[in-house]
Amino acid sequence: MNETTNETEKDSTSDSTSTTDFIRQAVQEDLRTNRFDGRVHTRFPPEPNGYLHIGHAKAICIDFGIAQDFDGLCNLRFDDTNPTRESIEYVESQKEDIRWLGFDWEDREFYASDYFELLYEYAVKLIKKGKAYVCDLNADEIREYRGTLTEPGVNSPDRERSVEENLDLFERMRAGEFSDGERTLRAKIDMASPNLNMRDPVMYRIRRATHYRQGDKWCIYPMYDFTHGQNDSIEGITHSLCSLEYEDHRPLYDWYLDELEIYQPQQIEFARLNLSNTILSKRWLVQLVESGYVSGWDDPRMPTLSGFRRKGYTAEAIRDFCNRIGVAKSDNVVDIALLEYCLRQDLNIRAPRVMAVLRPLKVIIDNYPEGEVEELDAENNPEDESMGHRKIPFSREIYIEREDFMEDPPRKYFRLAPGREVRLKHAYYITCVDVVKDEQTGEVTELHCTYDPETRGGWSEDGRRVRGTLHWVSAPHALEAEVRLFDHLFTEPNPNVLTDDDFEANLNPNSLEALQSCQVESSLAGAESGTQYQFLRTGYFCVDPDSSDEKLVFNRAVTLRDTWAKIQRSQQRQRGKL
Ligand code: ATP
Ligand code: MG
Repeated sequence: MNETTNETEKDSTSDSTSTTDFIRQAVQEDLRTNRFDGRVHTRFPPEPNGYLHIGHAKAICIDFGIAQDFDGLCNLRFDDTNPTRESIEYVESQKEDIRWLGFDWEDREFYASDYFELLYEYAVKLIKKGKAYVCDLNADEIREYRGTLTEPGVNSPDRERSVEENLDLFERMRAGEFSDGERTLRAKIDMASPNLNMRDPVMYRIRRATHYRQGDKWCIYPMYDFTHGQNDSIEGITHSLCSLEYEDHRPLYDWYLDELEIYQPQQIEFARLNLSNTILSKRWLVQLVESGYVSGWDDPRMPTLSGFRRKGYTAEAIRDFCNRIGVAKSDNVVDIALLEYCLRQDLNIRAPRVMAVLRPLKVIIDNYPEGEVEELDAENNPEDESMGHRKIPFSREIYIEREDFMEDPPRKYFRLAPGREVRLKHAYYITCVDVVKDEQTGEVTELHCTYDPETRGGWSEDGRRVRGTLHWVSAPHALEAEVRLFDHLFTEPNPNVLTDDDFEANLNPNSLEALQSCQVESSLAGAESGTQYQFLRTGYFCVDPDSSDEKLVFNRAVTLRDTWAKIQRSQQRQRGKL
């Protein structure tokens, strides 16, 4: 699992889904044999115990995508059987995120907790069939009795209780006569099964916790395994698609449905998404939020859909990513550079390009008339002429990027330096004639330049070449902004390997850099929260919800450097060598 791989060799930019993955093949085969009367009906079953993350996006694209591809239906079902960690806030956020991703469950919104009464009746049915019993072992004892992968388990002393006694005890469990954990209801299967899940698994536990939808109606709650398949069955699901860790639970899924003698969907497992430099386990995500290390579930550094959205990701880019990684049967780690690549592909064609100076350095153009302002023409996106042009003001004082000037430049530095001429994008050629420094610190505080009036628009009729093109903004017109730059939350490339102890030690102390007093072009006045722009040369940015008329705030979604292309080239070279 440590090796970072690219799950697919598919290179096209098309949005079309593959019809050849093993799940779609299985669905096609079931359609051919008319196994489910020609129906395709899937579901996405999140537990409302956190915000959805990019791994869930993979599952959503599979569940809803397959239903779409075969003209079927996909339900949204909240798997809310664990009252201690679930909440309405999580339900609402999950719904918002699925809609944002572009999927619609219409009126098919279900809750496992709405089936509690029916599940109770199912449990009674199994007791009556002699297939379930009330067990007095506590959690530790159950674990001890279960045995190991190499040793069979030992039967519970309560395994042979009579049906009558079991019915009575189970009813009293529900009535609240026993304390938490004092008794459980267990399926009577096989304590010697090589599959540990089949060694008399717990069906119900006693837990006095208020359920966010059921209140205090219940003090016993069904286990996931005793819930999920029955819910699928009740809803008429045909293909119950889930991640690989449920593979060993499939025999139990089937066993319950067999013994209950109810309609049986087909469970099919696919590999979970693992992403380099990213943690996708809700246990850890909760900890990041609760420890205050991030500002919330939608902090742009979080791998949640709301975090990606706030950072500037589009639903199209995430869906494209999910299509590209495809549906595989074996676990691996996908390089986050692929996700970034998908975002660049999308924003390249749709984000307007503007100029913003992140770390400003003042430039005074000595031979430009004081008080004069010109409106220069700038295209909004050279990839798409229909996005039009805008006017940008030019004046005697401008800002350029501090790193675009060097007093003593090394070879191959083509930007501004004393005596050197460069192009200002959409404007003029300028030449640096003087450098002003702070006497105490020696820091460059301001540059003096001259401009060539014959180079309006940023090119010269005499064909004279300049190597560097800089972005800039007019100082009296520019708007001040805060710009937030992000780095990975973890320094470890595969943080999924982290243990409790080194989790904190591996947090990247520099994952957020908030630049104050950035200067952005005046056309960004009133830019709306959630809008993406390309800031020329520095990346794709998105207006943060913290942004206001007083102070614009931008998040960098991604830089312009395409590391994915580089990875692919090196992979191709590697293959060439083999
Ligand atoms: P976590 O371990 O992050 O809490 P989970 O599996 O408990 O995840 P659920 O809310 O139960 O989260 O997941 C809903 C659905 O999303 C399940 O069908 C699960 O298989 C799928 N899913 C969760 N994480 C991933 C992932 N990383 N890649 C693909 N599918 C995932
Ligand atoms: Mg789960």
